[in-house]
Amino acid sequence: MDITRLKDDVSELLEEQVETLALSAEEGIMAGYSISYESPALTVAIPGGWRIVILNTINPGEQLEIVAHELGHLLLKAEGLYDVKLTEDWSEKYLTSQINSVIAHHFLIERLLSEYAIPSTYHLELQKNILATGEELIKDAGDEPLILHGIGLRLLDLIINTDGEEDRIRELLTCSEQIVKAFELGEELLVYPIHQLPAEDQYRRIKDFFQRLGYKNLPIRLSGR
Ligand SMILES: [Zn+2]
Repeated sequence: MDITRLKDDVSELLEEQVETLALSAEEGIMAGYSISYESPALTVAIPGGWRIVILNTINPGEQLEIVAHELGHLLLKAEGLYDVKLTEDWSEKYLTSQINSVIAHHFLIERLLSEYAIPSTYHLELQKNILATGEELIKDAGDEPLILHGIGLRLLDLIINTDGEEDRIRELLTCSEQIVKAFELGEELLVYPIHQLPAEDQYRRIKDFFQRLGYKNLPIRLSGR
């Protein structure tokens, strides 16, 4: 595992510092960071760079993998991959985070392994939680399209990056037409052939994705490096 070289590469490409802060869930809450076993890390912009906040109560090997995952997102960003943002509304944030995951993860997982010998075992274990709790999650989503579409993309992210889960994923897809719709449109528009597509192409794909799902007036913003 070559996380030091990865961190150096990211800092050099971004021309900014990247720092890591390991906290317990309680310390996280006090500092305004929401980290938990389900979502053990986050990256925030700080003056002059980036801060990766990581849950310090997961084991050190897992912490390393999860920090590498966050660094992987920054690396792709530095090389020209954009994130999409809407408002701070919870459901909108859920969908945009799933969009950003589908767009980045297959590039990121492959890259961490081939260039830095860093596996994504822990990340994929967390992602697979949806296989156990899928029906419940879908029931809780009710008929909220933003959440159902987000679930469709989560299943897409999983089918792309794991082996042997396809039957269970297909089973969950049958639970809702909205879920299938987002899954299929995501497959068509959000799985880029390369991560360095021109910014206009990235914007057009994401805009198409929203429009074809029936969202007309969402204030889509892309954020790059
Ligand atoms: Zn990610």
